Amino acid sequence: MTSFEHLIRAVPDFPKSGVIFRDITPLLADGAAFARCIDALIEPWQGSQVQAVCGVESRGFIFAAAMAQKLGAGFIPLRKPGKLPPPVMYADYQLEYGTDRLEARVGTVSQGERVLLVDDVLATGGTLGAARNLLGQLGAELVGASVVIELRALQGRNLWPENIPLHAVLHY
Ligand code: IMP
Repeated sequence: MTSFEHLIRAVPDFPKSGVIFRDITPLLADGAAFARCIDALIEPWQGSQVQAVCGVESRGFIFAAAMAQKLGAGFIPLRKPGKLPPPVMYADYQLEYGTDRLEARVGTVSQGERVLLVDDVLATGGTLGAARNLLGQLGAELVGASVVIELRALQGRNLWPENIPLHAVLHY
C-alpha cells in the first residue's frame, strides 16, 4: 500500500447506481501526500527526456501540470469540445451511451516532441485511447502514459498498445 492510498475515497453509487467512484480530492488536499503522488507518477520517466506532459481535462490537468513542473517540461491540455479557440484537432471516443471528443490546439506539439500522457483514472480506456490518437495526429512521439488509478475490472489496459509503457500508481 502506498502512503497516500488511504486518501482516495470510494463513493458507492456515484454518479449512478452500481458505480464506485474514486474521489481524489482528499489526496489533493494533503500537500505532502499530493507531492508523493506526483513523485510516484513521474518515477518511471526520470531520464526519458520528456519534453511535454499532456493532461486530459479536467482532473488530468491537476497531475500533469505538477508533473511538468517537476520534470522541467511543458504542459499540453487536451480539452472537452468547444473550450479551445480554433484551429483545433480532435479525436472521438465511445461512451456507454453516445460519443465524446477531446480537442487540442493545432501546433501545440512540435513534430517528434517527446510527450508523456497523464490522466487521473484509467477505466474502460476510451479517454486515454482518444488522447493517444490525438497526440499521434499532432505529431507527438508518445513516451508513455501515467495514471493515478487503474480500475482493473474495466480492462482499459487491453485497449492500450503493449509497446507503449502505461504506468498506474494505484490499482483497484
Ligand atoms: P474511461 O474513458 O472509461 O477510461 O474513463 C476515464 C475517464 O473517466 C477519466 O478521464 C476519469 O477522469 C474519469 N473517471 C472514470 N472513473 C472515475 C472515477 O472512479 N473517479 C474519477 N474519475 C473517473
